[in-house]
Amino acid sequence: MSERFAPPVIPLVDLRHTTMPPPEPGDGAELAPKGLPIDTLGRNLRDLRISVTDRCNFRCSYCMPKEIFDKDHTYLPHTSLLSFEEIVRIARQFVNLGVQKIRLTGGEPLLRKNLERLVEQLSKLRTMDGSPLDLTLTTNGALLAKKAKALQAAGLHRVTVSLDGLDDTVFRRMNDVDFPVAAVLDGIYAAQEAGLGPIKVNMVVKRGTNDQEILPMARHFKGRGIVLRFIEYMDVGVTNGWRMDDVMPSEEVIKRIASELPLVSLEPTSSGETAQRWGFADESGAHDISAGEIGVISSVTKAFCGDCNRARLTTEGQLYLCLFANRGYDLRSLLRGNVTDEEMALAIGNIWRQRTDRYSELRSTITPDKRAGARRVEMSYIGG
Ligand code: SAM
Ligand code: SF4
Ligand code: SF4
Repeated sequence: MSERFAPPVIPLVDLRHTTMPPPEPGDGAELAPKGLPIDTLGRNLRDLRISVTDRCNFRCSYCMPKEIFDKDHTYLPHTSLLSFEEIVRIARQFVNLGVQKIRLTGGEPLLRKNLERLVEQLSKLRTMDGSPLDLTLTTNGALLAKKAKALQAAGLHRVTVSLDGLDDTVFRRMNDVDFPVAAVLDGIYAAQEAGLGPIKVNMVVKRGTNDQEILPMARHFKGRGIVLRFIEYMDVGVTNGWRMDDVMPSEEVIKRIASELPLVSLEPTSSGETAQRWGFADESGAHDISAGEIGVISSVTKAFCGDCNRARLTTEGQLYLCLFANRGYDLRSLLRGNVTDEEMALAIGNIWRQRTDRYSELRSTITPDKRAGARRVEMSYIGG
């Protein structure tokens, strides 16, 4: 039987009252609108990823391998989960601290009952300049055909769908629950029709497992108004048996695509963007806008910690400042304790102000022994 790894948690009530220095005028730790928190490396807080469940209907070997996440695996009890009201209350504090984008994730977020209700409440939040949030969701697509319309009606703007190949045998093996490609494609096109675009499709590339799917995927999505992104297989968590040999560097992915479909490098659209953009080129070598673009997320070979503006909230209300963190900050106890919104925002701002995380930049200096001995949080718990 596999127990869920329970990472150490920092109790925030203590932190708030004892160890946090009081904010000083102009040091970035004050509450908005006077000043927004900036971490020790000068990074803003712009993007909040909220995991709404630790459960999933897939068993992707790189994320929730079947041997570990088997029928005896202990998932979070219902009482541990944040309610929608609690999520919205926390999200509001983040928005007041500068967050402009919220992504719902998991586990598989579409497994959370009545998710549209949460979307509806989050869609009412406004950024500090009064604009709506960029509200999006990452899903494996299995339930998307059924739910796309309701999610759009509730106020969701966009979706990102994970799909690791077009070959049915390869895909069924990767999701390890024998789920067919056709149903995910149905979900993608239903979401497009519902207006949840521009849709992004994420493909995690594992050398020797699905790299033969790179070109078929690029051919399939070219010209369909969908941005296909290739993600380097990462050493998140400790259960997936990650080896550097299984990583296919983005540079190789780009070379392989460009050998058949010429590409041209594009400028980033915003700071903190995780993907490097490449456009399909026309005969003159210029970007053919109608053919669209692809992206590569080089989390392993080209670290982008320098402008990482993302915070992650787990299903049970712990705040993580990095995908590779080994500890979280217990916002749930703060939330369920007797604290005001202002106190909560102050605590969150102070946590961000002390942030030093830059794991991907340091990865190459971590020895395999140390990596194997690490107790890092799992992707399905923290959300992608
Ligand atoms: N279940 C949803 C899905 O698969 O889209 C949302 C959660 S999933 C953890 C979020 C993203 O993380 C997915 O795009 C998935 O492919 C990616 N992911 C999971 N494990 C990964 C790993 N070891 N390396 C790179 N990406 C990974
Ligand atoms: Fe589930 Fe997403 Fe992880 Fe695959 S990547 S096991 S779909 S949470
Ligand atoms: Fe951000 Fe951590 Fe990833 Fe660096 S390793 S980009 S700090 S989540």
